[in-house]
Amino acid sequence: MLRARLKPPLKKLGIRKARRPVTNVPSLKNFRRIVVKVGSSLLVDHTQGALKRDWLEALADDLVALHREGCDVLVVSSGSIALGRTFLKLPKGSLRLEESQAAAAVGQISLARTWSEVLGARGITAGQILVTLNDTEERQRYLNARETIGKLLELRAVPVINENDTVATTEIRYGDNDRLAARVATMASADLLVLLSDIDGLYTAPPHEDPNATLIPVVPRISAEIEAMAGGAASEMSRGGMRTKIEAAKIATTGGTHMVIADGRVTNPVKRIAEGGRCTWFLTPSNPVTARKKWIAGSLEPRGTVHIDEGAAKALLTGASLLPAGVLRLEGSFARGDCIVIRDPRGAEIGRGLVAYDALEAARIAGRNSREIEAILGMPGQSEMIHRDDMALGSE
Ligand code: GLU
Repeated sequence: MLRARLKPPLKKLGIRKARRPVTNVPSLKNFRRIVVKVGSSLLVDHTQGALKRDWLEALADDLVALHREGCDVLVVSSGSIALGRTFLKLPKGSLRLEESQAAAAVGQISLARTWSEVLGARGITAGQILVTLNDTEERQRYLNARETIGKLLELRAVPVINENDTVATTEIRYGDNDRLAARVATMASADLLVLLSDIDGLYTAPPHEDPNATLIPVVPRISAEIEAMAGGAASEMSRGGMRTKIEAAKIATTGGTHMVIADGRVTNPVKRIAEGGRCTWFLTPSNPVTARKKWIAGSLEPRGTVHIDEGAAKALLTGASLLPAGVLRLEGSFARGDCIVIRDPRGAEIGRGLVAYDALEAARIAGRNSREIEAILGMPGQSEMIHRDDMALGSE
C-alpha cells in the first residue's frame, strides 16, 4: 500500500494563486519513494565550473533525513558535462555532441565520486546507474534497470542516476534530465518526483518577461492552458526549460507519480519544500501501482499465453505471484519482459502480466518447483513466472 494520500478531492483544488495560503498540498512525510532531480546549474558553479560542495553537503543532509524516516531515496544528478568541460578546458558556449560526450566521460567520474563521498559520510551507500532512452523504453532493459534499482533500494542504498551520455547518440538521447528523471520515477514506482531547479515553480507567464506573472502552487491536471504557460526558456547551464519540466510532469503524473518543482538554489532545498516553501505541485489522481497495472492491462500487445492450474488461479486472486509450479502449459514465442495473457483451466482470461522468462526457458520450468530453477536452467532465476507487481488481473 502506498502511504501517499491527498486529503481534499483533487477536483476541488483548482489552480491557486501564490498569495492565498496553500494548505492542501501533500506533505513529504506521506511519500515512501522519492526521486530528487538535481540540475547542473545547482551543482556546478557557473563561473568556475567547480562543484558547489557546501550546497551539496546540505542537500545530502536533507536526503539522509528522508532516508532515516524510512523513505526510499533516488537521485537523478546532472553535472557530468558541466564538470568535465572544465577539466578538459573546453571553450564556453555550446558544445558539439562528441565534445559533450567527452566532457561527460570525464565529469561523470567526479560526479559519482562526490555523491558517493557525501552520502557515504552520512552512512549511506550510493550506487551509480547510467541509462539511455532505450533503457527506459525497451521492455527488457526497462525491467533490468527496474530490478537493479529495486534491489539497491531494498539494500537501503541510494541509486545516483544520470544519462549514459557517452554512448547515447542524438536519437537515443534524452538530452535533458527532467524527462529522464520522470521516466526513472515511474520505472521505480516512486510516488514523488522532486525537480530541483533554478526557478521556484511554474508561473502564469515567464517571470523575467512579465512583472504580473504569479506562481501556481498546485496543478491538479496538465491542461492546454498549463502547457501554454510553459514557454521555452532554458538557463545557460541546464538544458531543460519549463517545457521539459511540463513534459516530465506529464510522464510522472500518467505513471501515478506526483511531481514538485522547487527552487534548488537555496540551502537545504528539500527541507524547504517539507516546510511549505514556494513551489509548484503537479498532482496525479492515480498511484504507481494502479498506473502500472493499467499500462500492463491496456497498452501492451500480448505475445503469448500461460495456462495455469486451479490452485494457482485461486492463489492469484488472493494477491500471490504466479509460480512456475502452477503453470500447465504455454503458448507463443515471447521474450522475457513481454506481456502474456493468463488463462485459468477453463480457458478464461483472468489477467495479463510481464513474464520473467523467455518462452523456451518458461517451458522448461513449467510445472516445476521454484527451487529447481537453477538446476534446470543452469543459472539462478526469479522464483516467480510473473511477479505480482507485474500483473494486472481482470478483477483489479
Ligand atoms: N546528463 C547531462 C549531464 O550530466 C545533463 C542533462 C541535463 O542537465 O538535463 O551533464
